[in-house]
Amino acid sequence: MPELPEVEHARLCLVRWTKGRTIAAALVMDARVVHGGAAAGLPARLAGRRITGLRRRGKWLEVTLDAGPRFYSHLGMTGKWVSRPVDAPAERFEKARLELVRGKVRTSVRYVDPRVLGRMRLEEAEPAFWRKLGPDPLHDGVDPRALGERLARTPRSIKEALMDQALLAGVGNILATEALFAARLDPRTRADSLDARTVKALARAIEATIARSLALETGPEITYVSEARAENPFSVYGRGGEPCPRCKAPLRRVVQGGRATVFCATCQRPRV
Ligand SMILES: [Zn+2]
Repeated sequence: MPELPEVEHARLCLVRWTKGRTIAAALVMDARVVHGGAAAGLPARLAGRRITGLRRRGKWLEVTLDAGPRFYSHLGMTGKWVSRPVDAPAERFEKARLELVRGKVRTSVRYVDPRVLGRMRLEEAEPAFWRKLGPDPLHDGVDPRALGERLARTPRSIKEALMDQALLAGVGNILATEALFAARLDPRTRADSLDARTVKALARAIEATIARSLALETGPEITYVSEARAENPFSVYGRGGEPCPRCKAPLRRVVQGGRATVFCATCQRPRV
């Protein structure tokens, strides 16, 4: 599932493929990917619009246009945009397509999504879901004081709190699991019990984990760091039962909020 680093990589790819180009045609092959009842109107409303840039907040992308509606894309679990020659055959699981033109050059970007959990939206103004997203750790950095104030308001476990998109936008299971390991913090610790020093260590660990994951994203196309790799690049994510890379104790796997968490019960302490 894409988290902040993968979506940032997707953004950089889309900038390269689309910025400055005009949408000659938009096609929706599967109306389920367009939310908010805009599927029928999407082709007509996007045709003729020039793409001026790409913004990202957490896991959401906004394709900024010269005029008209705002166009948002969320990759869900398995969504990705790919760049293809305009006359290339349809991709397997292709759900939507933008045909682009600049001068005489025609290209296309295609939205591929086997599980169809991604979504697109057209909005007239900045939508509520975008406004409700918390600070983006890459854009805004992770301010320990602000993070501490938000954590102090929730009795949930720190792991579940970190995955709340209103708290920090873009942190998912992988980043939360890895950052808690880096900060040596037990994922079951109550979010509202952390002292300032622990929150500061956690804020730094989140930033470092994102930087490390971003560095893994070098391909010409969108890839998911959790997939398409012969070796698991993470310290503890996906490694339940294996020895802890720090202390060699077997890593434990628990389920929190319906998602697996892997951690070391020996060197990840309830409080630092
Ligand atoms: Zn350990």
